[in-house]
Amino acid sequence: MREQNCIFCRIANGEIPSTTLYEDARFRVIFDLSPATRGHVLLIPKEHYADLTELDTETAREVLPLAARIGRAMKAGLGAAGFNLVQNNGEAAGQTVRHFHLHIIPRYGAGEELLLWKPGESTAEEREALSSRMGEYLR
Ligand code: 5GP
Ligand code: ZN
Repeated sequence: MREQNCIFCRIANGEIPSTTLYEDARFRVIFDLSPATRGHVLLIPKEHYADLTELDTETAREVLPLAARIGRAMKAGLGAAGFNLVQNNGEAAGQTVRHFHLHIIPRYGAGEELLLWKPGESTAEEREALSSRMGEYLR
């Protein structure tokens, strides 16, 4: 399924031109227009899935191996020392485009502030309670 009014459907399927790093039958990888670091790309499936909870298994199983290939190319081709994968699900999580995408962000090891959270605190009791609230949905 592709959606008429979805910008990433249109980009992934080539209706809107983009600087494409990689393309195959299922995915297109493009450069983010507002990169966190030099070489920040987005891995986008050609089919429309709003977020990770909708992604089909066939597509999902190709995402991490492809991300690893891109990450290796960032290290070999751009001299990146490492890279981050970031993937937002839902507006509350900062997702602005409701078509699944994985951010692949090269890291060069100097002067980049890319802080996703400030480490908090938890007790063993809290962790146990959280686990039992979610656990029944995983059986
Ligand atoms: P999100 O916040 O949904 O995880 O990330 C959306 C990302 O898409 C942002 O980093 C934003 O810069 C990028 N973006 C939004 N519109 C376009 C576009 O038309 N072309 C490209 N290449 N990137 C886009
Ligand atoms: Zn879409």
